[in-house]
Amino acid sequence: MTAENSTIAAMATPLGSGAIAIVRLSGPRAEEIARGLFRPAKTEYPLTSHMLHLGHLVDPRTGRLVDQVLCTFMKAPATYTREDVVEIHSHGGPVAVRRILELVLQNGAELAAPGEFTRRAFLAGRIDLTQAEAVAELVEARGAAEAQLAAVQLAGGLRDQVEALRQPLLEILARLEVAIDFPDEETEIIAPEPAADRLDREVLIPLDRLLAAYDSGRVFREGLKAAIVGRPNVGKSSLLNALLKTDRAIVTPVPGTTRDLIEADAVLSGLPLTLIDTAGLETPPLDEVEAEGQRRAAARLAAADLVLLVLDRSRPLTDEDRRIFMAAPPGRTLLVLNKSDLPPAFSLDRAADFLGGRPAVEISALTGRGLDRLQEEIFQMACGGRTSPEEVPDLVPNLRHKKALEAARPALIRAGEGLRNGLAPELVALEINQALDALGGLIGLTTPDDVLEEIFSRFCLGK
Ligand code: GDP
Repeated sequence: MTAENSTIAAMATPLGSGAIAIVRLSGPRAEEIARGLFRPAKTEYPLTSHMLHLGHLVDPRTGRLVDQVLCTFMKAPATYTREDVVEIHSHGGPVAVRRILELVLQNGAELAAPGEFTRRAFLAGRIDLTQAEAVAELVEARGAAEAQLAAVQLAGGLRDQVEALRQPLLEILARLEVAIDFPDEETEIIAPEPAADRLDREVLIPLDRLLAAYDSGRVFREGLKAAIVGRPNVGKSSLLNALLKTDRAIVTPVPGTTRDLIEADAVLSGLPLTLIDTAGLETPPLDEVEAEGQRRAAARLAAADLVLLVLDRSRPLTDEDRRIFMAAPPGRTLLVLNKSDLPPAFSLDRAADFLGGRPAVEISALTGRGLDRLQEEIFQMACGGRTSPEEVPDLVPNLRHKKALEAARPALIRAGEGLRNGLAPELVALEINQALDALGGLIGLTTPDDVLEEIFSRFCLGK
């Protein structure tokens, strides 16, 4: 990380050939540095702020032309970082862009650390921590649902809700503090019962709603882990491949060849999906490698959000099928009857008997038949009955937010009880302060440096 008052620079666009590429500067010397390199074609310095100016970028030592560019000088504070910002839009060839960045660095800028522009925006108070997180999430989003959630969060959706929780707490706290100073008039200053009701209504209930939104919407943001299980040769790897439409898993007719877990990421109706192909769960291990594979498979099964249990429709059901079936978690298991392109070896009635009424989908991993239905079923099961990505919730806290909300909760409950039971205002104030601390940490007011470090280290360069 560079010093606070330094001027930082980085490529704001990915390195590669493109129509344009942008080098961005931010800091007190941004304008001065850019002035040394940029020769406006039609205008004169000082250039109008927040406008694009056509001109040439020149190496000041040799006077050589580097590129024809569009340059914008943006005066603080109406900028991303609230500092002076300059953007140089050049033709997008990697060599020319690198040259421009080098020149900027040679002339006094320092290379920005990953996430440093956004960190400066956060430190300057232009955005809160949830918005800073949303920047990274929007850039990295794997699916449409995740991107949509990040966009709402970036617009301040979560910050506004957390601020709405903090406001009543600050008001109650202010009254408690006056009451501490004027103990004789305590009951006139703060009416405990209405204050406790307000705490419930305006803080605890909406906070619980946010926690519930985490539970119901978690898959949209974190994605879904689905384990594919079944005895050897039923078509697990084939299913994985069919869902991924790649050949990452090795498909082979020899039983027990999928010795290791194969993980692959896919996007299913806008939902990030990690598929895990597992070694035949219940097969007696042939050797150490296979036994280890099975141990890992069992652990993954326990951790999976969803289990796809694959059965071979063209062969009679076996005890091994049943054993695997028994090991699969009832609420999270979807039965997949594969090889439906072959003559069936058992009737659906027999299957229903055997499977005890769990949801089942008939497919052929070979021909692709039934895969659409399977994807719909996965989606519905994962998203609590939702059938389409249009039904993505507006706001879903991430795990860090959830922990902060959970940390605030017991203090809020104690504060409410304290008010109702006539606890001394000092002690109630202590609880309220604790809740405010937790909520402040969520939006970045009281967030420890190491947590900030962790968050910004996840950013890409130039953001
Ligand atoms: P795994 O051991 O469960 O991973 O099974 P594989 O995916 O390796 O498949 C075992 C064999 O079944 C291979 O020969 C596949 O080509 C074949 N297979 C898989 N799915 C189907 C299917 O839907 N129909 C037919 N006819 N064969 C399939």
